[in-house]
Amino acid sequence: MSPGSPGSRTHLTQSCLSHFPSYQLCKTAGYSSEKSEGVRAMELPEGAEAPARGPRVLVVGGGIAGLGAAQRLCGHPAFSNLRVLEATARAGGRIRSERRLGGVVEVGAHWIHGPSQGNPVFQLAAEFGLLGEQELSEENQRVETGGHVGLPSVSYTGSGGIVSLELVAEVARLFYGLLDQAREFLHAAEPPAPSVGEYLKEEVSWHMASWTEDQQTQALKLAVLKSLFNVECCVSGTHSMDLVALAPFGEYTVLPGLDCTFAGGYQELTDRLAAGLPADTLVLNKPVKTVHWKGAFREPADPGDAFPVLVECEDGSRFPADHILLTVPLVWETYVVQAKSTWIPGFLKERMDTFFQPPLPPAKADAIRRLGFGTNNKIFLEFEEPFWAPGCEHIQLVWEGSSPLQDAAAPRLDAWVEKLIGFLVVPSFKPAHVLCGFIAGLESEFMETLTDEEVLRALTRVLRGVTGDPQLPAPRSMWRSCWHSAPYTRGSYSYVAVGSTGEDIDLLAQPLPMDSKEAQLQVLFAGEATHRTFYSTTHGALLSGWREADRLIALRSQRHSQLGQGAEPSPCPGPRCSS
Ligand SMILES: Cc1cc2nc3c(=O)[nH]c(=O)nc-3n(C[C@H](O)[C@H](O)[C@H](O)COP(=O)(O)OP(=O)(O)OC[C@H]3O[C@@H](n4cnc5c(N)ncnc54)[C@H](O)[C@@H]3O)c2cc1C
Repeated sequence: MSPGSPGSRTHLTQSCLSHFPSYQLCKTAGYSSEKSEGVRAMELPEGAEAPARGPRVLVVGGGIAGLGAAQRLCGHPAFSNLRVLEATARAGGRIRSERRLGGVVEVGAHWIHGPSQGNPVFQLAAEFGLLGEQELSEENQRVETGGHVGLPSVSYTGSGGIVSLELVAEVARLFYGLLDQAREFLHAAEPPAPSVGEYLKEEVSWHMASWTEDQQTQALKLAVLKSLFNVECCVSGTHSMDLVALAPFGEYTVLPGLDCTFAGGYQELTDRLAAGLPADTLVLNKPVKTVHWKGAFREPADPGDAFPVLVECEDGSRFPADHILLTVPLVWETYVVQAKSTWIPGFLKERMDTFFQPPLPPAKADAIRRLGFGTNNKIFLEFEEPFWAPGCEHIQLVWEGSSPLQDAAAPRLDAWVEKLIGFLVVPSFKPAHVLCGFIAGLESEFMETLTDEEVLRALTRVLRGVTGDPQLPAPRSMWRSCWHSAPYTRGSYSYVAVGSTGEDIDLLAQPLPMDSKEAQLQVLFAGEATHRTFYSTTHGALLSGWREADRLIALRSQRHSQLGQGAEPSPCPGPRCSS
């Protein structure tokens, strides 16, 4: 059976759900709030005993973690009382595809990293029929990239030269060899440096001592290295590799498979997940202002039942519930304040302090403070005619005079374009010719503050400089992502920052209350930042949503058997893979 054909899992899930009486209930029984119609719409025949109330679950956030959790819960008969509250007007979160520039533009997630059997995003995409033959092939799934970015087709220097591919390949071998070494300190008693950046710089200095080329070539090698450091900042979603902790770096796990994309856009995946939920489960434009826990909240219309948690939305509506499954980007913002030439990393704590009532336990709040969250943006340029050679897939930018050995922490906002690592040639945009540039860190956040005209002008200047062609026609149009300014994301993805470890990720994932002997699961935490080995990815996010859904299902089964109620009906089979 080909993936996505009528008998595939996609169709199974929907038809299977409708076999459960609770599916109907889920469709009709809305949550009550001060402003909405409530569960009381259901009427029981006289003399009948009220059925045991199924737990009310609120999933906050409709990204892939939230949708995955909802999908899993909806497949279980006990969890028909479910809502997903999403702040924005669309589901998908950091998976966002838009029709622009004559094709589909990936504003957020771009690739399935490691598309092979162990990757649930790959499996789900295959089941939904969203991948092509090439992506599904065994051969593709077997490729081991080690997470390294492929070599560029052409490497331009800032002054209009081209770096030989031999030199680029030699430097890339050195860089990626050192990066692999940097993953080996997971269990080291004393890692040789606090950060990946400092470790790499020490190693580069050591290697440089044996370089025999002339000064100019050595300087060019350093500039290529700097470009690769910047690539790694995009991969890690950080301003500088000096901010990324060395010891836990090896905990991030790379799956086999040659990274692949979605021909119709990544968002088809989350759209399909959302479409598979019972009607009215997903509530858009519903930003949550405060999560109240450790309480006894009652419905104004039904003062009998007390609920331990309550979600208060920005529009004033209030939803009491038994469980809240929070999937919002938890590590809201790591921002760096420039004070003279020194750097003080800090967190915007304001929101964290007001989002939870009572506030988070100090251990959890500290974990959030320690973990890193940075910005990686894309800039799309559309051209009348390509200036690059046919077959060129990847343009690298190398800035002469730059070196990774210089202080990487201070942002160079006046030279923000030099943080741009280069461009991918977007393949599916014929007859439009589109490049997609990547830029991370504070320069990326600065770019968000500029007008479209300023960005377009700056990039036209760069391209004329690197091609050595002052007459190069300006791009016909420009479009960029602005993840740092997105109010419900405030950045791109998480990393393990200096001062934190994988244990902070586990702390982040621990449900509230943390001090209770009995599992209560009032507030559960999912989202990419809560997955210890796949953080920053869509598959990490999806697995975390499933993990927390399974946690709730296990609690339910435990309580059910404690009450001596026998086995619960088995849930509708969800996707095959588990965390
Ligand atoms: C530029 C970029 C490129 C990327 N490239 C890749 C890639 O190639 N491959 C890959 O695997 N991953 C990539 N990622 C990372 C990947 O997109 C994320 O890890 C993943 O989508 C996160 O899913 P999530 O459900 O955890 O969070 P999100 O997708 O952020 O979902 C959280 C949801 O919560 C909502 N929300 C926030 N606050 C509130 C509130 N107060 N009330 C209600 N709702 C709220 C948000 O609107 C959002 O919809 C990329 C990300 C970016 C930004």
